[in-house]
Order: sequence, then C-alpha cells, then structure tokens
Amino acid sequence: MSDCIFCKIVSGQLPSTKLYEDAAALAIMDISPIAPGHALLLSKKHYATLIDAPAAELAGLAAALLKVVPAMLKGTGAEGFNIVQNNQRCAGQLVPHLHFHIVPRKPGDGIRFNWSPSPAAKSEISATADAIKKHLV
Ligand code: AMP
Ligand code: ZN
Repeated sequence: MSDCIFCKIVSGQLPSTKLYEDAAALAIMDISPIAPGHALLLSKKHYATLIDAPAAELAGLAAALLKVVPAMLKGTGAEGFNIVQNNQRCAGQLVPHLHFHIVPRKPGDGIRFNWSPSPAAKSEISATADAIKKHLV
C-alpha cells in the first residue's frame, strides 16, 4: 500500500534497523522501544490486521518468530518475552499493517501492559461464549 509506513520499510523506501528477513517476514528494531531489544516482526505483504491474512501467511510469520525470538533472548540476556499484536485503533494499533511486537523481559523490569482484569459472573461468561460460538463453523 503506497501510504503505509511499514510497506515503505519492507520495500526499502524508508530506513530501518533490520534484524531478519525471509519470504514472509521482516524483523526490525522498534524506533520507540519499551525495553532494550523491542523489535517488530512485519508481514512482507500488506494486511491491515491479523484476520486479513491467510493462514499460510501467518504460518510464515510464526516460523520467523521462532527464529528471531531465541536470538533476541540470547542477544539481550532476557529471560522471557511478550508477543503483543494490536488490531484496530481501539486496541492500540497505530500502524495498520500486520505486525507483532517482540518485547524482551527481565525479572523486575517494571514493564506493565496496563491490563485490569476483574472476575465476571459465570452466567455472563457463558452468555458471551454462546454469542461467540454461534459464529464458529
Ligand atoms: P502498533 O501500535 O501496534 O501499531 O505499533 C506500532 C509500532 O511501530 C510502535 O511501537 C512504533 O514505535 C513503531 N514504529 C513506528 N514507526 C516506525 C519506524 N519507522 N521504524 C520502526 N518502528 C516504528
Ligand atoms: Zn503496509
């Protein structure tokens, strides 16, 4: 897509700090990292969100994650990692091009994703599950 910054990074029109590249994926360093080593795995093809991509494309991205994440753990000395994947503006997606955040984690690093879970009534959970299951074929 011509006005997409991640498409421009994939095509080389915009600069990036590259980590890894294959037929499906390009991994780059995030320009505003929330932890040292915070990287982005971009789909090479333009899809706005996860559910716009075919399963085979997602399989390619998963294979790339399996290469990049172990290297990131070794290279940063991190013990763990988060994969964060935002879809649509209401979910925090700023760049509408399919990508995964890879965030290296260390004990006591203080990073919080600001979730505030609270227990719900069993009946409410079941009703919501039923509303979803109707659409699963
Ligand atoms: P999201 O909110 O999931 O769409 O995340 C977009 C991410 O892209 C943010 O973490 C930004 O810091 C990052 N970002 C935006 N522009 C660039 C760029 N030119 N190079 C690397 N990372 C970028
Ligand atoms: Zn794009």
